Amino acid sequence: MDGVLLFLLTILLSLVVVLLLFVGFFKFMFEPAFILIFKRPVFLYWYPIPKKLNQHQRQILEKEFSFYRKLSDKKKTYFEHRVKSFLLTYKFVGNEIVVTNDVRIIIAGTYVMLTFGMRNYLVPLFNKIIVYPTVYYSTITEHYHKGEFNPRLKAVVFSWEDFVSGHQVTNNNINLGLHEFSHVLHFHALKGKDSSAIIFYDEFMEVIKYYNDAGLNAQLNQKAYFREYAYENQFEFLSVLLEHFFETPHIFKAEFPDLFQSVRRMINFDEKLLC
Ligand SMILES: [Zn+2]
Repeated sequence: MDGVLLFLLTILLSLVVVLLLFVGFFKFMFEPAFILIFKRPVFLYWYPIPKKLNQHQRQILEKEFSFYRKLSDKKKTYFEHRVKSFLLTYKFVGNEIVVTNDVRIIIAGTYVMLTFGMRNYLVPLFNKIIVYPTVYYSTITEHYHKGEFNPRLKAVVFSWEDFVSGHQVTNNNINLGLHEFSHVLHFHALKGKDSSAIIFYDEFMEVIKYYNDAGLNAQLNQKAYFREYAYENQFEFLSVLLEHFFETPHIFKAEFPDLFQSVRRMINFDEKLLC
């Protein structure tokens, strides 16, 4: 009996060692090489037991996101899984506003759309979403704000009125949700070590040449496609670019094809899914 037990233990231990070796090889050798060549993670979705939304929540996605409507059935389950994971990970705090199902799903859906090409999409830089009904006064800056990412408070803050107008008007290159969440991804890429953060950072270095290089910058200024606010600093530049990427992708691509592709690779976005 002891012999059999020892044999089984040896087999089990061998399997664990083989598994660890495989994971180590994949994580530290195979995937980094793959990313270097193809500029994307080896896989994006692996959810053996996908989390599900209830019917009402799914109806909100159908109604509010043309992006979601266009996904295949399989990708819709991945999208739902991610929205549900978002809702379970981050707390919603309403400040003089009731955070309804609609509010939560529209905010979560915006984030999931932005990060749909990333494998590591839930970042630890924030743990709550604070929602105000309209613009709010910040005692720190002594100004009214529509939204912000506050790394110190680990919070993303939105004026719901402005979030909704950005969400509903889909072709004016203004989208508060995408804007603030892009700030989060940017911060994460500066420190993160996961595959998606590394890809984001590498491509960001290409994107930011258009901000730093006088010649490239002059090209942008000449066409005046991006709004003035983009040139405030590197952080705003990136967020404004991502708003344009989602709202008027065809114009962006026609005007600045190389820059468009860098932004696309940065978030590994499937171009076919853009409207
Ligand atoms: Zn900003």
